[in-house]
Amino acid sequence: MNFAQKFDTIIVGAGPCGSTTGALLAEKNHNVVIVEKEQFPRYHVGESLMPFCYFPLQRLKLIDTLMESKNPRKYCVQFVKENGEGSQPFYFFQHFDHPSSTTWQIERSEFDEMIMNRAIDNGAKVLQSTKATDLIKKNDKVIGIKVESQEFGEQSLFGNCVVDASGRDCFASLKNRWMERDPKLKKIALWTYYENAKRDPGLNEGATTIAYLPNKGWFWYIPLKNNKVSVGIVAESNYLFNGTTRDHAEIFDREIKNNAWIQDHLKNAKQIGEYRVTGEYSYRNRHSAENGLVLGGDAFGFLDPVFSSGVFLALKSGSLLADEIDSILCSSKNFSSSSFQKYSDQMNNSIEIMRKIVYAFYDENFSFADVVKQNEKLRGLLTDCLIGNVDDKDFTELFDSMKKYADLPEPIKHGNPKNDVSLGELLAMRGKPFKDWKEERKYLQEKWGKQGQQIDTKKGVNSEYSADTPQK
Ligand SMILES: Cc1cc2nc3c(=O)[nH]c(=O)nc-3n(C[C@H](O)[C@H](O)[C@H](O)COP(=O)(O)OP(=O)(O)OC[C@H]3O[C@@H](n4cnc5c(N)ncnc54)[C@H](O)[C@@H]3O)c2cc1C
Repeated sequence: MNFAQKFDTIIVGAGPCGSTTGALLAEKNHNVVIVEKEQFPRYHVGESLMPFCYFPLQRLKLIDTLMESKNPRKYCVQFVKENGEGSQPFYFFQHFDHPSSTTWQIERSEFDEMIMNRAIDNGAKVLQSTKATDLIKKNDKVIGIKVESQEFGEQSLFGNCVVDASGRDCFASLKNRWMERDPKLKKIALWTYYENAKRDPGLNEGATTIAYLPNKGWFWYIPLKNNKVSVGIVAESNYLFNGTTRDHAEIFDREIKNNAWIQDHLKNAKQIGEYRVTGEYSYRNRHSAENGLVLGGDAFGFLDPVFSSGVFLALKSGSLLADEIDSILCSSKNFSSSSFQKYSDQMNNSIEIMRKIVYAFYDENFSFADVVKQNEKLRGLLTDCLIGNVDDKDFTELFDSMKKYADLPEPIKHGNPKNDVSLGELLAMRGKPFKDWKEERKYLQEKWGKQGQQIDTKKGVNSEYSADTPQK
């Protein structure tokens, strides 16, 4: 490994986002390095794919491998009430007659390694057991990263562009203090695995089942190959940890009794492996890019996993990023933060559509049945959201109808590239007729997020300051 060379692109993380970006860039003969802190295959939660994963997977030429695999086919999603009564499953093919309507339930150790190997086959250099430890910046531009590698020790890597695809570790956002939690979606997930659990017959064998718990908590039930099922609970922390016990197995067994369908499906099953827990707060990072750096997948933002949108969004962002970076590399332009505005708009738009559905799901007064029984078009639009068909679609009618039952969120304003504020723009702002400093602060926050930029009149460059500071 030659650490003196300059890479076209450095990618942090070999999950679905990082490996997709790396594979598609390497396919176009760009000089790519991916650093991954783990040694693959490694465990990861999130085994249920969304149908529209098909298109990035097709670009990666992985559909045949998946078709030949023994991983259960997922044809539908179903919702089950606490009393065990199931909804009519949402069969994807009834809505969209295309090969993408069949997707898979797959252990992530296998899935992620498959994409990473595609990146290696295409020519990307992958350094496993290598952790990115810091960003290297020069003149307000990210020019590389520092790494700690099991094989090579502490090293620096330099490149034209750094992609942060480090998942929920949010490597760059934590360094830059860009993390912004979703104000409402604050849940805990507790999950484990079972053998010999019951599978539904026929087409429903590989279905994802969302089974309700009191207070809008829910179970996921994801059948995997080798007679294994992934079962998890997502709920408010004070519901799960209600003071009776902190033991994960006891909490899990207590909740199984709260849903008749889950109880029935697990009655002859054997729990295997450990119980895992995460405070899976949703977030969107304040900025999606700065000069020389862009964020993708969960490192861009994370949404509650109720509709299994995470891997789809990660693959989508990896695929979009590869195109964007390829076109910049081919044009010999610089990687400025604004290069990623279109990419950020596309990602924010997709996430916002899913976020509305997630908010509605948790609303006390909302049920999907109420919405879809109004007309077939609404059922179709909702299914579009559930399969990931969210580009170039007008969801106004669906959301207008959902608003009758649920409080839908306004789009989050942040999550855009960090602005390169010009001196002229800042000077022009000084003449703005603000009523008082609160109004000015609101204006600043909306325009640039909480961390604005301040003129250093000598250098004409920016140093960060907090827009929370009252203005005199
Ligand atoms: C409880 C729960 C359930 C979920 N269920 C589903 C589901 O059923 N379906 C679904 O689609 N999604 C699900 N998700 C979401 C899904 O897991 C993620 O959205 C998806 O993994 C994001 O892919 P990614 O490539 O962005 O990040 P990741 O898959 O997390 O990959 C990031 C990689 O970066 C590496 N890394 C991190 N930091 C560093 C560093 N400093 N240096 C080097 N490498 C680093 C990590 O080791 C990892 O391999 C779930 C999430 C949670 C929390």
